[in-house]
Amino acid sequence: MAQRKRQKLGQHFLHEKRYLAQIVELADITPGEDVLEIGVGEGALTRYLLDAGAKIYGIEIDEALIPALRKMEDEHERFHLIHGDALDIDYAGLPDKMKLVANLPYQVASAIISQLTEKVEIFPLMVLMVQREVGERLCAAPGGKDYGSLTLWVGYRYKTRLCQVVPPGAFRPPPKVDSAIIRLEAREKPLVDVGNENLYFRIIQAGFAHRRKTLLNNLKSLNLNELSNAYHNFSNPETLRTFLESAGIDPSRRAETLGAHEFAIIARAMEPLMENK
Ligand code: SAM
Repeated sequence: MAQRKRQKLGQHFLHEKRYLAQIVELADITPGEDVLEIGVGEGALTRYLLDAGAKIYGIEIDEALIPALRKMEDEHERFHLIHGDALDIDYAGLPDKMKLVANLPYQVASAIISQLTEKVEIFPLMVLMVQREVGERLCAAPGGKDYGSLTLWVGYRYKTRLCQVVPPGAFRPPPKVDSAIIRLEAREKPLVDVGNENLYFRIIQAGFAHRRKTLLNNLKSLNLNELSNAYHNFSNPETLRTFLESAGIDPSRRAETLGAHEFAIIARAMEPLMENK
């Protein structure tokens, strides 16, 4: 039972010192700087961050770990423990700018990254341990199997870098797969000028709905009730084909071959056709 709970919470504690040190080095901590750590666990990474001078807001969900962490909090003035779910953070009372440094629980890593990268004004830098596969998806270039909506979602606001592949043996207990340390640095402005962000990401989502289908087939399902009368129906393949061709995008391409600037071209061309822009 206890083992099943540990697995469910992604409790693979990092014990290899060189990776703990590398994470802290990549986070480039200035003494006194505010850091959010998600998934404190037994505090291994927290101690390294404290040694670097960080002021830490650490979130941990597991009740069983809380008594030892409360003791740690009493001993370290710069460590504040928050007992709760990272997917449900209450930002009231937290600094309005912090670095995010974490060995993320794998089950919720993509959800946490998707949620927190939208708050780019709060998090200028993230250094994260994730499952290698997630790291590869975040840092993928167009054309490959790893490239997809997560790549484009995060890449819109952050420069992404996979810094280090980490083998299972660095953790206790070891996970079944490799991990990776990634560094996400906020862009000064979004990667591309998309006009309507909401529309841009809806196009991406629809474009990748079935990876093997063409843009023409996938974008048919883009259900835009807001389209003007003249373009009332993109589910009509001929209307959609004409639209994509006049935007300069070959309708027979697959989404995975399009760069962010090409999705932006589609979004900017579609925006004037919307009733409620
Ligand atoms: N930071 C520690 C380390 O590096 O050894 C622990 C990392 S371990 C991979 C992930 C931690 O996140 C576990 O302690 C787990 O209980 C916690 N956790 C899992 N889901 C969580 C959630 N939704 N919110 C907050 N913490 C969570």
